Amino acid sequence: MQVLILGGTTEATALAAALAERAEVAPILSLAGRTARPATPPIPFRIGGFGGIAGLTSYLKRRNIQAVVDATHPFAARISANAVAACLQAKVPLARFTRPPWTPQPGDCWQRVPTLAAAAAALGRESRRVFLTTGRLDLSAFRQAPQHRYLLRTIDPPAEEDVPPQCDVLLARGPFDQAGEEALMRQHRVDVLVSKNSGGGAGRTKIDAARALDLPVVMVERPSAEPHGDEFTALAPVLAWIQAHGDAPSVRKAPSLREIP
Ligand code: NAP
Repeated sequence: MQVLILGGTTEATALAAALAERAEVAPILSLAGRTARPATPPIPFRIGGFGGIAGLTSYLKRRNIQAVVDATHPFAARISANAVAACLQAKVPLARFTRPPWTPQPGDCWQRVPTLAAAAAALGRESRRVFLTTGRLDLSAFRQAPQHRYLLRTIDPPAEEDVPPQCDVLLARGPFDQAGEEALMRQHRVDVLVSKNSGGGAGRTKIDAARALDLPVVMVERPSAEPHGDEFTALAPVLAWIQAHGDAPSVRKAPSLREIP
């Protein structure tokens, strides 16, 4: 059974590792190619865009894909919308595997905003020391708020023209523990954290550190997503879903010896 995993997340990596063990499934992991040196996946993979909805639809047909799991990041809205449309057109079942969003806990001080531009505006007019953890893309919003001093943490270097004027760039790949996050925020005398509401355990430590240090958080909420038929937040039900579609009568299976006349 050919399964396409749309990846670039820890969820996709976990699913790829689990499917690598299953002989009855032939998975392909698809990465956008944003990260310069992604960890080598344990299953066959491809890198780069498909060419919009039409490109993805034709890929699904050409490769005889029988199920798609969209395990992309909750903020990767375009590929998720493309997957919904392409799977409809190619008549391929689609499931979404994502992490639940974070919710504020007692002691958290969050200002929730819908976009990065709104996050930049929410920082206010007075100069503040901002820990920016929203990634290296779409930084231009913060160039509109040059009064602040930024500590920007990203995996790969941002394009120079996107970086706000007063900005220290820290290149680092998680996971980060809470003690380290607190030490970093103290060292840079951070006043406010800006984060996407990505969800998941690994990224949560910066939010926990902000709470421990009594720092406010500007939280960029997720873009609204196209409805997906089946949505999961844990690995086991995704594996069961794949199994169920492999067993479905519409899926072509190699005939067993007993079926040969
Ligand atoms: P996006 O805006 O939703 O997608 C832009 C285009 O990139 C898509 O139209 C598609 O190109 C291509 N693309 C995206 N994900 C792909 C994948 N897994 N395989 C093949 N092509 C893909 O996506 P994004 O926000 O730039 O995110 C890109 C990748 O980084 C995703 O894999 C996502 O899981 C990961 N990521 C994103 C974030 C974030 O905050 N956005 C954070 C961590 C990881 P075509 O139209 O040509 O097919």
